[in-house]
Amino acid sequence: MTKKIKTCDFRITNHSRKCDHYIEGKIDGLGNELEAGFCRLPKEFRCIESLKHHLPRVSHSSRKSFIQCRMKYYYNQIEGRVLLPHRQTDAIKAGAIWDKFLELKHEGKPTKETIHKLFVKYKVSPVLEAKLTAIIKAYITLEIEHNEPNLVNCQHEFVYPIYDVITYGKIDRAYIESFTESKLTTNPDFHRKLHYLQAQLSTYFLSNENYKSCIVEIVKMHKGKPKANESVESFQKRLYHSYIARPKSVFLEYKEETKTFGYKFWRTEFDLPQILRTYEIVNRDISRAIKNNEWYRNDLACHVPTDCEYLHRCDTGSFSKMLYGYKDKH
Ligand code: SF4
Repeated sequence: MTKKIKTCDFRITNHSRKCDHYIEGKIDGLGNELEAGFCRLPKEFRCIESLKHHLPRVSHSSRKSFIQCRMKYYYNQIEGRVLLPHRQTDAIKAGAIWDKFLELKHEGKPTKETIHKLFVKYKVSPVLEAKLTAIIKAYITLEIEHNEPNLVNCQHEFVYPIYDVITYGKIDRAYIESFTESKLTTNPDFHRKLHYLQAQLSTYFLSNENYKSCIVEIVKMHKGKPKANESVESFQKRLYHSYIARPKSVFLEYKEETKTFGYKFWRTEFDLPQILRTYEIVNRDISRAIKNNEWYRNDLACHVPTDCEYLHRCDTGSFSKMLYGYKDKH
């Protein structure tokens, strides 16, 4: 259990104005607040007064967190705590760097320096840096096609209401009638099955009725390490040359003729009413949990599918400054 959602002790108001520490959440075209706002104070995140009237926005991942473990949702969405970038797992670091590289490529500036800055930010190990460098170099050498002329936006933000609650997300690449989702993974089987993609891709399809199809681009990251007596530089070169010789081994479903890769899915393959119904139920349960302070741990979710980022918090009872920071308030 955590501290109760109570009346705020820090509230500063001046006549009819909102609290001086208040940061608005998303608003609609008429200036109406659509979600709970934030507190400007350094060790606060969501405004506990605003939570009495609005829910936080719901994304595919926050909905998933709530279903997995309420405490995980609470730490992330109410307290706004996250692992510092360099404390993330290699899988999260690699995914974040890959997304950023694709964004930089769209903007035309993935230089050696900008990529190196990402490696420094996440403090990646030499072996992980070698694996990512080999993939990035192969991607550039093969001149993989982005379908740029029809591109609307990279990291395209969407917001739409489901039963009065804001649904929010970011699409890796949005086009007029389709979108592309990128996955960098050591476990591609997990990301090419409709079963596991249903919830995330349905959320994206629901954001725009013009989306008729999508591509899931899967990049398979090498699981191994350098061989005995192999330097990290030689390891990187070996991976790079194998990717150039066999692009399909890393960029799954790579097509030489079009210089594209990925698995195509159609809108009609997804059960959109079912995901709408799930959001309705989960939104109701989140609302009840916030209102009645109903937070509890689900120990069955601590290591599934990978270690939860809050394991240290749950084991020690506090957030170590060496491990955790705060999310951005916007
Ligand atoms: S470590 Fe386990 S109990 Fe704690 S927040 Fe994560 S999933 Fe929940």
